[in-house]
Amino acid sequence: MTTLDELRTHVPADIIVTDPDTMEGYRRDMADLVAAGKPAAILRPTSTGQVVDIMEWATRTRTIVVPRGAGTGLSGGATALDECVVVSMERMSAIRAIDRINQTAVVEAGVINADVGRAVADLGLFYPPDPGSFEISTIGGNLATNAGGMRCVKYGVTRNSVLGLEVVLSDGRILRTGGQTVKNVAGLDLTQLFVGSEGTLGIITAATLRLQPAPVAVATFVATFPTLQSGAAALNAIFASGVVPSMLEIMDRTTINAVEDHQRMDLDREAALLIVGQADGAAANQEVNLMVSCCETAGAELAMATSDPAEAELLLQARRLAGWAITEQGPTIVEDVGVPRTRLAELLTLVADIGAQTGVRIATVGHAGDVNIHPILLLDDLSETTRERAMSAAEQICAAALTLGGTITGEHGIGELKRQWLRDQLDETSLSVQASIKQALDPHLLLNPGRGY
Ligand SMILES: Cc1cc2nc3c(=O)[nH]c(=O)nc-3n(C[C@H](O)[C@H](O)[C@H](O)COP(=O)(O)OP(=O)(O)OC[C@H]3O[C@@H](n4cnc5c(N)ncnc54)[C@H](O)[C@@H]3O)c2cc1C
Repeated sequence: MTTLDELRTHVPADIIVTDPDTMEGYRRDMADLVAAGKPAAILRPTSTGQVVDIMEWATRTRTIVVPRGAGTGLSGGATALDECVVVSMERMSAIRAIDRINQTAVVEAGVINADVGRAVADLGLFYPPDPGSFEISTIGGNLATNAGGMRCVKYGVTRNSVLGLEVVLSDGRILRTGGQTVKNVAGLDLTQLFVGSEGTLGIITAATLRLQPAPVAVATFVATFPTLQSGAAALNAIFASGVVPSMLEIMDRTTINAVEDHQRMDLDREAALLIVGQADGAAANQEVNLMVSCCETAGAELAMATSDPAEAELLLQARRLAGWAITEQGPTIVEDVGVPRTRLAELLTLVADIGAQTGVRIATVGHAGDVNIHPILLLDDLSETTRERAMSAAEQICAAALTLGGTITGEHGIGELKRQWLRDQLDETSLSVQASIKQALDPHLLLNPGRGY
């Protein structure tokens, strides 16, 4: 009996997919340069009990497991390994409970991020983390990568919106962490240990999410700048002003042009940098006006505020479209570096220099409020020479971020793509503590081995 035959005696036949054409769609995520292995099967459980059966079987048979949400990851963390089983959580998509007074929602890992927002909107609530992929990525994937997004500058990243988890461990035990309470310091914080663990410590099957009252007034502004430096100066002035924007995003000239090519929006194709920002709450208009004046003082060519929802939606749409508009142009490496606020201008300049020196076309877009930017490297083809040149440019961008006191990944994770550079950021003590945690929770190294830590 093969190991898969043994699994068939424990789980319903329809959750095991071995048809090569169907499996092909589960072999890779959206990291174009990460090579995908050939999985033995795709498993699509519909319940926590089935995930338990899968992990007990995987431990017995020493089968490698790659957890998967929607496969929108940009670091190769959900990319298949040879002979692994990919455990796709897409069919665990129930919203188990919504509690208006406690402002919580208990959702299964396969629930799409935007569906949480839609489910609670009528109650006057919202779920803050909003990665650009929010219409297609899963809560499980968001938790496993500690996803960020545009609203994080005010409302925090995914880890700030989770109170508890249900996780199936590598040996099949179910671990329940945290709870419904906002405060909870009973024992070590295992909830936060699993957030950002990239599928290496357990399979998240459900989560208790923290909701927020939907913001009242929202005001929006846009500003364009003739140079990266003047745009960065405006951002520094906004940071220094004490305003907490609810969104503060940037797009460089290559990005602006990609968006305009994708869909005409009358953005200024000549601008070196575009900033789009928002404030919410009772003082929204006042705060946006202050941000506009920071932009004007720093030398903006255009700076305008709007409280018209339709106009604001257009500006947001331009920013949301950016990732898709660039990646549709061909293969890419989506970089994800972060630096302290005061070093943003230097980072933008260094990225532009790296593009010029290596000849790799780079479109930079990002979450300026968190100073987490995505220089997107555009590859003309997938030849060995082009790949090597692009990987060298990506390595230089990561090195530049580290030199400026930053990080090689702000929200996309290490995955497969950045394994080789993790050692440039973390010291031996940190790496050895991480290896010990992995060993304690996954002693046979079955869950996404070698990735994320
Ligand atoms: C156009 C575009 C825009 C994006 N914008 C953003 C952004 O603004 N902010 C941001 O942070 N990211 C962004 N991303 C990246 C990506 O969408 C996020 O990383 C997202 O959180 C991945 O979710 P997913 O469901 O697709 O997970 P997957 O890609 O399937 O998996 C991601 C990782 O999580 C693990 N995993 C998935 N589900 C589970 C589970 N249930 N239990 C344990 N481990 C699991 C996988 O093994 C893998 O390591 C963007 C991607 C695209 C394509």
